[in-house]
Amino acid sequence: MKALVKSRAEQGLWLEDVPEPSVGINDVKIRVLKTGICGTDLHIYQWDAWASATVPVGLTIGHEFVGEIVEVGSNVADFEPGQVVSGRCRNCLAGRRHLCAHTAGVGVNRNGAFAEFIVLPMTNIWLHAPSVDLDVAAIFDPLGNAVHTALAFPCVGEDVLVTGAGPIGIMAAAVARKAGARRVVISDPNAYRRGLAEKVGVTLAVDPTATTLREVQRQLGMQEGFDVGLEMSGNPAAFREMLENMSHGAKIAMLGIPSKEMAIDWNRVIFNQLTLRGIYGREMYETWYKMTVLIESGLDISGVITHRLSWRDFEAGFEAMQSGESGKVILDWRG
Ligand code: NAD
Ligand code: ZN
Repeated sequence: MKALVKSRAEQGLWLEDVPEPSVGINDVKIRVLKTGICGTDLHIYQWDAWASATVPVGLTIGHEFVGEIVEVGSNVADFEPGQVVSGRCRNCLAGRRHLCAHTAGVGVNRNGAFAEFIVLPMTNIWLHAPSVDLDVAAIFDPLGNAVHTALAFPCVGEDVLVTGAGPIGIMAAAVARKAGARRVVISDPNAYRRGLAEKVGVTLAVDPTATTLREVQRQLGMQEGFDVGLEMSGNPAAFREMLENMSHGAKIAMLGIPSKEMAIDWNRVIFNQLTLRGIYGREMYETWYKMTVLIESGLDISGVITHRLSWRDFEAGFEAMQSGESGKVILDWRG
């Protein structure tokens, strides 16, 4: 079968013929239909320090996917051929870098989903509701991070600030909206991504290099600051500005992973009685059920998908990811 393999210890990925994986008694074999490229995959493509220390050369990469079951092991009673499923692997739900380094992850230290077939243990299989669109099903994993973070605190009637309009920040903004927020402001220096955020329906997408959140508050007639913060950039400057613009008693959920230690003014946290909560997007059945229900009741995150390509054009997909002029990039593995 065809697969995207990290066959050399240098930048790039190589399309290769590899043997089809065999099915153990507790396994499910899936024909991959669509895959999403995520930041983790880009790190592996670029072969940065984290990737070269973590990923074995020769591995098929990729972990965001949707596919159709073609075969099940003799012990598997809950799944059958024809069902549309995704894999819920620890790695994909857990961000990247140091978090992934400790877990056995699909597409990071065991063969992944950028291939025509993947085999996973039945305990890692999620059966999709028929109502879920295939493209959206392919990105259930980062959507899970977004939902988990956006629902960390109640949003009903609240003014919500999202820092970072990457795919996860944009999806979280859409979820906050759906969950009843009054205003959802998102910030990102990247104009392309602010444009995408506007498409999913934020109140305002702001450029933190051109305006201050103080000014934004004034513009929106806000006095007291934001009630809920979703930190989705991992950028220290973004987090500090968020802290300065929260209301008394506000709550902040932090998903973005800072690349190193970051200093903040703790007086802000103390005197404003802020609640800070770290979010580790690990797998949760509950989140995936909520996602299905949110989608069935009208949550539309399809606007975050900017590229739909054939697997043959994977290079273009990775280029789009590297350029920053992209939301989610989907590769279609059919045909
Ligand atoms: P991404 O890198 O695509 O998006 C981050 C965005 O932040 C970019 O668009 C960037 O332009 C923006 N940004 C940079 N500086 C900023 C600033 N000063 N103000 C506002 N925005 C700024 O990442 P993503 O895939 O959307 O993921 C979001 C974050 O969540 C990443 O840090 C990722 O590592 C992390 N993550 C964490 C977990 C977890 O379990 N905690 C899981 C998945 C992802
Ligand atoms: Zn991912």
